[in-house]
Amino acid sequence: MCNLTSLCAEPMDILLGERGIKGRPFFEKCLRSRNRQATYFDALRLAVSGNLYRAIILMESNGTEDPYSVLAAAILSILSGDEEDAGMLLRIFAEKHAPLNSDRARSLGICLTRQISSFCPSYFGRNISSFTYPPDLMPPCVFEHRQTPRICNTCSIYWSARRVYSML
Ligand SMILES: [Zn+2]
Repeated sequence: MCNLTSLCAEPMDILLGERGIKGRPFFEKCLRSRNRQATYFDALRLAVSGNLYRAIILMESNGTEDPYSVLAAAILSILSGDEEDAGMLLRIFAEKHAPLNSDRARSLGICLTRQISSFCPSYFGRNISSFTYPPDLMPPCVFEHRQTPRICNTCSIYWSARRVYSML
C-alpha cells in the first residue's frame, strides 16, 4: 500500500483544519469514487483529528476484503471500547486475511502504527479510558511480553492497539 498521507493531509492541516491542503482536491475525487486506499487514509486522518466514531464508520465502509482496513477498524473499535465490534472484526481478519498470531498480522499492525505516526498524532492518549480488548481474544502472554523486545506474534496485535491508543 502506498502512503497517501501527504495527499490526504499535511501535519499542520491536522492542527489547523482542512483548509489549504494542496493534494486534498485530488484526494477528494478519489474519495468520491470510493477508492479504497483514499477511504482508508481519510479514516486514519479522522481518527488522528479526534473523530474516532466517524473514523470507524468510514473504515468499515471499506468492507472486509482489504486486510489493512479490517485490522484498522478492529483496532479503532478496541480504542472506542466497542469490544463486540472489535472481536467480530478481529475474527474476520483472522479468517479472511491472516491468523492473529502470524508474521503477516504482526507486520500489518506495525504498518498501521507507522501510517498513523505519519499524520503526526498528538500522543495525548485521550481515548485512554475506553480501551477494551475483546476478553476472549486476549493473548495469554500479554503482560509477560510488555517490553518491546519481548513482544511475540501472539500478543503483537494487542501491543499494536496499545501503541495506536497511546498515539491518539
Ligand atoms: Zn507475547
